[in-house]
Amino acid sequence: MQRHAIISGGGTGVGADIARRFSAAGDKVTVLGRRLDPLNEIADETGAYPHTCDVTDRASVDEAIKNAVNKNGPVTIAIANAGIANSVPFAKMTPEDLHNTLQVNVHGVLNLWQASLPFMKDANWGRMIAIASIAGLKGFSYTSGYCASKHAVVGMTRALSIELAKTGITVNAVCPGFIETPMLEKTITNIVEKTGMSADDAAAAVRKGNPQDRFIQPEEVADTAYWLSTDMAKSVNGHALALSGGEI
Ligand code: NDP
Repeated sequence: MQRHAIISGGGTGVGADIARRFSAAGDKVTVLGRRLDPLNEIADETGAYPHTCDVTDRASVDEAIKNAVNKNGPVTIAIANAGIANSVPFAKMTPEDLHNTLQVNVHGVLNLWQASLPFMKDANWGRMIAIASIAGLKGFSYTSGYCASKHAVVGMTRALSIELAKTGITVNAVCPGFIETPMLEKTITNIVEKTGMSADDAAAAVRKGNPQDRFIQPEEVADTAYWLSTDMAKSVNGHALALSGGEI
């Protein structure tokens, strides 16, 4: 079976490394995101098919999947990686803040997985993988919206894994701690702006949450997603796999 992995947020950070990992293993890959430039860069590097897409918009996801299937064949692996993080004290969080976070981080997963499901059902095989977060397993201050969204992804993963258990499709979430990506840079900048700490001190404070005192590297997340996609992990289903150096 020719495998075809579709990766949302595939132009940057974790998503770009997932595209590298699956392409290097010989899979067909499609990368989705709103900005074409980063998608084109990773496409030039890996041979992945780039397609602009806003994961919050079901019609946009359907259009991207239709063109991706024409190009690369039926989707067999759907990796819902696109995400946004915002940091705001609970008392100041607006309904729009929460809405926007849930739109990308939860509805984005729903849209990608739902649009990919018919192809996996036809193949009697498939892999649904969400890049959630350790924030899907525990709370952090100033991130109640983000934590709510990632807990929702873990809940959806667990429920769907049971619903699809007899179909040959597995559904899992990867829950990393802080990863060295553009999103982490924004987090550190935000701490610097709000606290007046130096960037080095802010980075050290964030890093310390990981008992190994290090940032997770995006390629570690990519390796984990790749492993989940293999038959080595066929019994791993409904899991929320902490990739956090022991932070839970
Ligand atoms: P990046 O900011 O580098 O990547 C996020 C990606 O999502 C971008 O490529 C962006 O592309 C895409 N994206 C955002 N909104 C949309 C949208 N509406 N439609 C389509 N694509 C969208 O961050 P990371 O690589 O760090 O994040 C990847 C995932 O890992 C996220 O789900 C994040 O929550 C999770 N994570 C990150 C951690 C970290 O410390 N960095 C820790 C734990 C989990 P574009 O803007 O072009 O649309």
